[in-house]
Amino acid sequence: MTATDPGQSQLDAARRLDAEAELPSQRDHFHVPLTERGEDAIYFCGNSLGLQPRATAAHVEEIVADWQRLGVDGHRGARTPWYSYHEIFREQGARLVGARPGEVVMMNSLTVNLHLLLTSFYRPQGRRTRILMESPAFPSDIYCIRSHLEARGLEPDDHILIVEPRSGEDCLRTDDIVAAIEEAGDRLATIMMGGVNYLTGQALDLHAITEAGHRVGAVVGFDLAHAVGNIPLKLHDWNVDFAAWCSYKYLNSGPGAIAGVYVHERHGSNPELPRLAGWWGNDPDTRFRMHLEDRFIPVPSADSWQISNPPVLAMAPLRASLDLFDSIGMDSLRRRSLALTGYLRERLEAVPGRRYRITTPADADSHGCQLSIVVDEDAEAAFRTIESMGVVADFRPPATIRVAPTPLYNTFEDCHRFASMMAESFGSES
Ligand SMILES: *Cc1c(COP(=O)(O)O)cnc(C)c1O
Repeated sequence: MTATDPGQSQLDAARRLDAEAELPSQRDHFHVPLTERGEDAIYFCGNSLGLQPRATAAHVEEIVADWQRLGVDGHRGARTPWYSYHEIFREQGARLVGARPGEVVMMNSLTVNLHLLLTSFYRPQGRRTRILMESPAFPSDIYCIRSHLEARGLEPDDHILIVEPRSGEDCLRTDDIVAAIEEAGDRLATIMMGGVNYLTGQALDLHAITEAGHRVGAVVGFDLAHAVGNIPLKLHDWNVDFAAWCSYKYLNSGPGAIAGVYVHERHGSNPELPRLAGWWGNDPDTRFRMHLEDRFIPVPSADSWQISNPPVLAMAPLRASLDLFDSIGMDSLRRRSLALTGYLRERLEAVPGRRYRITTPADADSHGCQLSIVVDEDAEAAFRTIESMGVVADFRPPATIRVAPTPLYNTFEDCHRFASMMAESFGSES
């Protein structure tokens, strides 16, 4: 290769971007899987399962060792007492999603949390029985909402309103969402939508949707599975009523990790709002009076949606994750993310004769890390080709390849290498 080789000069340019980045890659804080050839994989799957922080194992081992040493006394005497383990995430969790301390609690898994929240925030009454969601939605969310209606004796098809992209378009328009909300008016009980769409990578205008929902008297909540740790959120200031997310995607807390919940303080502090109850949501002052207190007294915060005592072994990886997010801050991470994803898009769109298109919106406010690529030919075969070149990404039928350069551990060089592979396989020079 000579210095004038275009591939080499693009690689040099990508390496320069890495060297000069305002916020450098935090790759050294993560375990990066290797390809069969023993090189670092191009890991673009942080939207599905984030990589393991190097600090994770020590947090898990701390609990295993304290349990060996202390038995039941670990509840109070462990290095990080198990009794109040969920409380260590209170401040960091709130900063992560733009909430106040007491509005966020880490518990359960995502779909379970959606069920718990819908019990409180979908309260059909009189004319007001509709619930609004989007298409395409993640299957678990669809099953969750439909089964919720069925459990209350309501026919899902009659009560679920769906906003979808216009014909010939891939993404939703805020205007269409707002129009659907206004049209539903006083029939609308609840809005429950994905904050960042899992398939297209589109970030919705959560503030505008919340305001529109409140104007017609509806309660507004979001599934933030693809938004948390990806885009900056201001849930409290946007006046969002409730939200839930999982922690194994951008939050890098491991397969099936403990999920998170946000409940606006006006609801958290309202003891009249029905919650499915358990002892861990009860006021800690009376929690251990057991059978002497048979009335549930909710703690006046999001903690009152907790049911069982916290599974501390499963919660430990959250510490490594939230420490990292908190030390960097979402705003700084977002600037790096916009630069990385912007660079990848620019490179992919510059490929001559490309036989694919990007369906994720280009406007900075309307996307996170992920780019969704639809290939003209057999998309699944195209995906296998990319995989065989050392890329870890994923494929969602019928034709979408999702790639997510995450700002924590991906680099401009990763983006360069991926764009070169796409040019080779799906450009006019191939
Ligand atoms: C990842 C994801 C889920 C997964 O649900 P779990 O309960 O964590 O298995 C649900 N909804 C959305 C929108 C997702 O992106």
